[in-house]
Amino acid sequence: MEKFISFDEIQKSLEKKETDCQAIVSYYLQNIQTKAHLNAFVEVYEQSALNQAKKIDEKLASGKAGKLAGMVIGIKDVLCYQGHESNASSNILAGYEAQFTTTAVQRLIDQDAIILGRLNCDEFGMGSSNENSAHGKVLNAADEGRVPGGSSGGSAVAVQANLCTASLGTDTGGSVRQPAAFTGVIGMKPTYSRVSRWGLIAYASSFDTIGVFSHTVKDNALIMEVMAGHDEFDSTSSRKPVLHYSELLHFEKKAKVAYLKETIESPSLQPEIKEHTLAILDKLKSEGHEVQEVNFPLLEYVLPTYYILTTAEASSNLSRFDGVKYGYRSPNAHNLESMYKMTRSEGFGEEVKKRIMLGTFVLSASYYDAYFTKAQKVRRLIKDFTEDLLNDFDYIIMPTTPSSAFKFGEHRDDPVAMYLEDLFTVQASVSGVPAISIPNGTDSDGMPIGLQVITNSFKEAELYAFSNYLTKLTP
Ligand code: GLN
Repeated sequence: MEKFISFDEIQKSLEKKETDCQAIVSYYLQNIQTKAHLNAFVEVYEQSALNQAKKIDEKLASGKAGKLAGMVIGIKDVLCYQGHESNASSNILAGYEAQFTTTAVQRLIDQDAIILGRLNCDEFGMGSSNENSAHGKVLNAADEGRVPGGSSGGSAVAVQANLCTASLGTDTGGSVRQPAAFTGVIGMKPTYSRVSRWGLIAYASSFDTIGVFSHTVKDNALIMEVMAGHDEFDSTSSRKPVLHYSELLHFEKKAKVAYLKETIESPSLQPEIKEHTLAILDKLKSEGHEVQEVNFPLLEYVLPTYYILTTAEASSNLSRFDGVKYGYRSPNAHNLESMYKMTRSEGFGEEVKKRIMLGTFVLSASYYDAYFTKAQKVRRLIKDFTEDLLNDFDYIIMPTTPSSAFKFGEHRDDPVAMYLEDLFTVQASVSGVPAISIPNGTDSDGMPIGLQVITNSFKEAELYAFSNYLTKLTP
């Protein structure tokens, strides 16, 4: 059977009539079956995907198909899809069936993308290893003893192992970029507000974004241009016009690139990742681009700021899961109060409970100013610094992660080590700017390394074009 990697290949095969959408879906279904032990898919919509494929084949035959005809997509288990279960990989949402479809997903369907199923993730998007899922862990296909990253681990592995053409994840503090780096695929987080959040089960609303995993920059850009844009159901979604990113990939100017001294010299950075990152910066210099080292004295405050604000928002967002409105209700309760308490104690996993408590604490009357208000102020400083820097430079480059994929259980007893995995991804999240991770070779264990590129808000087109150029310089 044919092997499809990119949408370009799929389209060529479709044009030459060597294949059709039903055969493409069958190809992925076969892969999902042989690689079921990776545990990337929580649920596969086999029959509805085949039915959708048949309809799109008819549209193709009559020349009426949308621009994503032949694209087969998996969606993270935090994106609602009408008539299908969405659990946010949490027991508290067991049995919850979505009443409507996420705008971003609907826009893909409207262009004839086929939705193949939902993908495993850390519970409510909280985690960096996919070990916090009610559906069990996801294995990294490059080394099954290692984590795929998180929280969108299933979405990353689904693309890595060719279980679908591309996938959707969400990125609140790195959940698309970090697993993309760990699995050797491309992962893009757009500007905050570029893609509607309607239908996304919220973690931290002022950080949450929907992002894309793919094998090629072009596929990523194409999906993004279809999903992005204002949505009447999300008043925070931007009204700025959306460009055709996938048609603007040609890059020929000389770029001005900054790298942050504190990231490259971070003691937690794996030496091989440092070497690979410096090698790219050197190549850029030799290609005539301007590359400059810049100080980022705020780096040490970015993670605490992120974890104070996101837990605060999560404690508020997750208060709706109370045994009354959705999913699970404890059968052991004997009155109203015990129903709330037992439902939440039994329904949420350990990490989620830890964060709800931390978030409730930083929002409590006596500590509000000391933590929450202060973190808001520091967020402003980080955002201003980042945006000012991006007014002087076209791009910031840094490693996506301090280390490559670690082994299962390695950070089990050390939450701080786990949170440190997000050290380089949270700056773009705190600032709201777009950022992408592209593969940058492998380390001596053969594990993928990611290179992160950041640019200013709403410059997705520039980010995709430069990343496309960079993929020619990376190993
Ligand atoms: N690892 C980070 C966290 O646990 C990022 C998660 C995300 O982006 N959803 O908060």
